[in-house]
Amino acid sequence: MIIAGNWKMFRGPDPHALAGLDAIVCPPFTRLRACVEAGLTTYAQNVHWEPEGAYTGEISAPMLLEIGVTGSLVGHSERRQYFGETDQTVALRVRGALGAGLRVIACVGETQAERERGETEDVLRRQLEVLEPHPDLVLAYEPVWAIGTGLTATPEIAQEAHAFIKSLLDAPVLYGGSVKPDNAEGLLSQPDVDGALVGGASLDAESFRAICETGARIRS
Ligand code: PEP
Repeated sequence: MIIAGNWKMFRGPDPHALAGLDAIVCPPFTRLRACVEAGLTTYAQNVHWEPEGAYTGEISAPMLLEIGVTGSLVGHSERRQYFGETDQTVALRVRGALGAGLRVIACVGETQAERERGETEDVLRRQLEVLEPHPDLVLAYEPVWAIGTGLTATPEIAQEAHAFIKSLLDAPVLYGGSVKPDNAEGLLSQPDVDGALVGGASLDAESFRAICETGARIRS
């Protein structure tokens, strides 16, 4: 069971309030070092594919590894939606990061319009066909319509999508999209849900801890 907290562009909780938690935190770049020093398994929210170069505003895998970061998110829907991330740049980032020795959580998922048009499987197939299995690669199924909206996929919708994803690529699959302490149990109990990627609820130490405890109870 893998529980990861994506703090997005929020400062997030005091890392010491999360000490001892078996979880991943993905803080903004300026808080990476504090999280590493607090003993947390720390991932960046993005990583470039080159080790260095003239890429203003980017960060490289060796730079993250140098300060003790373990991995990175790649292809979060907010990167795809607002910053021009494409399936091709996601593939480059994933390959570059894994090759450099970082772990990766690669995010996939359909928008509301795509789901309503019955295109969910086509979208997932397109997003996944650029990726290859790797022991350090984990996927996150994050239906865009459920991110930060308070709408959550039902456990059945999540299970169906996760099973489809695993039929295309052999990797653990986390669910993301408005996971909260009160809906975590139903989602994390599904056989193909291997954990959660938590946004809003990871900004509150107690909520995040409660979700982690639910996960640990289900897979103990
Ligand atoms: C996310 O940012 O990956 C996410 C799932 O956010 P939220 O839990 O707030 O929907």
